Amino acid sequence: LTNTQPEDSLPKYVRINTLKSDLTTVKKAFDAKYKFQCMDLQDFSPQCLCEILQPQTVIEDPHIPNVLMFPPGTDLHTQPLYMNGSIILQDKASCFPAHVLSPPPGSMVIDCCAAPGNKTTHLAAILNNKGKVYAFDKDPKRLDILKKMVGKAGVTCVVPRCLDFLRTDPQDTQFKDVEYILVDPSCSGSGMLQRTDENSTTSVERLQQLSKFQISILKHALRFPAVRRVVYSTCSIHEMENEQVVQEVFSQVSDRFEIGHVMPHWPMRGLDTYQHGAMCVRMSPDKTLTNGFFVACFERRNELSNKKS
Ligand code: SAM
Repeated sequence: LTNTQPEDSLPKYVRINTLKSDLTTVKKAFDAKYKFQCMDLQDFSPQCLCEILQPQTVIEDPHIPNVLMFPPGTDLHTQPLYMNGSIILQDKASCFPAHVLSPPPGSMVIDCCAAPGNKTTHLAAILNNKGKVYAFDKDPKRLDILKKMVGKAGVTCVVPRCLDFLRTDPQDTQFKDVEYILVDPSCSGSGMLQRTDENSTTSVERLQQLSKFQISILKHALRFPAVRRVVYSTCSIHEMENEQVVQEVFSQVSDRFEIGHVMPHWPMRGLDTYQHGAMCVRMSPDKTLTNGFFVACFERRNELSNKKS
């Protein structure tokens, strides 16, 4: 399976960095050139979006707060708001994981595969810089990019660390209050729209290897003693990296965790050939005008109701 649609056929998504700006300020900055429009949740469909998203129009995303859709092909790299970190150019699909995790301000969070930092900075914005995000990545060069991104975005609550998450000790006292973990591990990337010169078919052996790694990293996240919510995401379209991972891990932790219903209003669900497929969300260029993506959420079972049953 490959994703061969050209990259610039999708809307250009912008996340407003609420640590530095807000919708009113961004609207003002683009006022002379663009007309802003809202969209009701029930009107959301690729056809309707394409009708509304004419040149010089911007749509306020109906699903994720502070996300804007510009017409395909819009280049905002030279925009002052981009240069000073007030807006972040991030596909809508990649804004789902932090939004689903939604740690309340003041929380302790781990972003275990964090670089280059799109979701880390989103988490920091949701926390309003209150609390702490441990941002781990084992790749030093990618972590350097994260550090730059964090600085540019005015983030002060992130602790970047270059390490292998699988080697962290969940019992370490520094993690005793971690309640929220984002698991966005390396994947085949098969959901990302390709440049036409790229060929990204992934062999079954590679998918098996990735799936094994994804299972181990998700299981590790679920070992942290205080963790209440763990969001698992990939930019893959392969069920081996998505629903299958969730099913395998759930079968091992079902006494302690349940699968949460992710964004019930979102139209594209996980594959219903799996027990929890419909609880998860998928995204795709043709059905949701985003890159291909998958998100699942593990929620700790209520200990009181466990004891009763
Ligand atoms: N969450 C990032 C973002 O939104 O910008 C993208 C993460 S990318 C899909 C996966 C990352 O996981 C890579 O940067 C890779 O270096 C990192 N990684 C892979 N295995 C890891 C491990 N065992 N521990 C920590 N990081 C790991």
